[in-house]
Amino acid sequence: MAAGDRGRRKMAINRRDLLIASGGALTAAMAGRALAQEAQGQPMMGNPTLPLPPEQRMGWAVVGLGSFAVGQLMPAFGDANRSRLTALVSGNPEKLARLADTYGVEHTYSYDDYDSIIDNPAIDCVQIALPVGLHAEYTIRALEAGKHVLCEKPMASTSAECEAMIAAARKAGKALGVGYRVHFEPTNRAAHSMITGGEIGTMRHVRAEHGFQADPENWAPHRWRLEKQLAGGGSMYDIGIYGINTSLMMLEGDAPVSMSAVYAYPKDDARFREVEGGVEWRIIMRSGAVVSGSSSYCYSPYHSKQTYIGSKSSLRMSPATTYYDNALWHEQGGREVQVSTGAPYTQFAGQVDAFSEAARAGQPHATPGEMGLRDIRLIEAAYRSADQGGVAVSLEGV
Ligand code: NAD
Repeated sequence: MAAGDRGRRKMAINRRDLLIASGGALTAAMAGRALAQEAQGQPMMGNPTLPLPPEQRMGWAVVGLGSFAVGQLMPAFGDANRSRLTALVSGNPEKLARLADTYGVEHTYSYDDYDSIIDNPAIDCVQIALPVGLHAEYTIRALEAGKHVLCEKPMASTSAECEAMIAAARKAGKALGVGYRVHFEPTNRAAHSMITGGEIGTMRHVRAEHGFQADPENWAPHRWRLEKQLAGGGSMYDIGIYGINTSLMMLEGDAPVSMSAVYAYPKDDARFREVEGGVEWRIIMRSGAVVSGSSSYCYSPYHSKQTYIGSKSSLRMSPATTYYDNALWHEQGGREVQVSTGAPYTQFAGQVDAFSEAARAGQPHATPGEMGLRDIRLIEAAYRSADQGGVAVSLEGV
């Protein structure tokens, strides 16, 4: 999923990478600060305005130091106002020591001594950034250790696992959220405000297209994404979920009623022995709005597009859900005008700070476990439909 984003990094991000590569916790924090300033005066979405002193911030452990954790999540703590990175968990001692040094992180754990986080009061929240097939186990162990958990998307391999995670959070009395960063991303927040504010009229149709070319030979993170046990599913789990989740975020107050889908990928492609390479899907909403989309591991270049067509005007987002360069256009009366928003990169700090504040206050997070469960149930419904050649499947109770 990060492949296209890697290819489209902007100057600002390259500067951040250079700063971080030069080492030192302070340097990473300064790099984050520079990025925040590039938001050109826009508030960091989901981020309170006043920074708390470090000792009053919620302490975070990041579990799994792969490309997403190292490239996005950890640097984002440099922009955070209510959260600080206090612990790292990895199976690679050399990487653990190097990143702990770079970010000035005091506590490190291997997967074997992970459960001993229970004894560490410097850890309030745990962010799970492991392959999907490990989300349920590591989330439940953190909850049992008395920590709040923000689990990366997709929430887990099956809806049954999601239900077990939610039950564990209830039992522990701790917060459980899913890492739907788009809810804290300024371009999507602007689209959400325009839609819920009535600027496009009644929503008639949403189109969501997301995909990239899975390249397991040249990029290691694409290997587990093609193994069912570690990935849960195929393109729908990894990238199609952005289309589903973001579309439903925009259709706040509406509800999905039925879903149909067909598989769309070359069946003789050796990459897709265990998981599906592509899906064309459609959800009918209670309001009558139709949400359709595609997900694919066979697209080039990286594809992330959303269109919202209303009775008065429409919105186009291209790209729609990337890390750095989302863009929004309002189409009205034959004219298309780009809408100015804050810097997309602020979504990462906005997400951790919003979760810290919700967890501290005992309030529901904006993207709770129940939302992650809903989305896995929708993907399971899409697979059920596609397995039956595209028949509409009821979403009652989802
Ligand atoms: P990655 O392969 O780069 O990282 C996975 C990490 O898990 C590695 O450090 C690996 O060593 C570790 N790991 C531990 N046990 C493993 C095992 N048995 N097999 C394979 N790896 C194991 O993957 P990634 O792209 O960083 O994705 C990690 C998580 O983050 C996934 O849940 C993914 O969906 C999510 N993600 C979210 C976003 C987003 O924008 N929110 C973007 C990319 C990835």
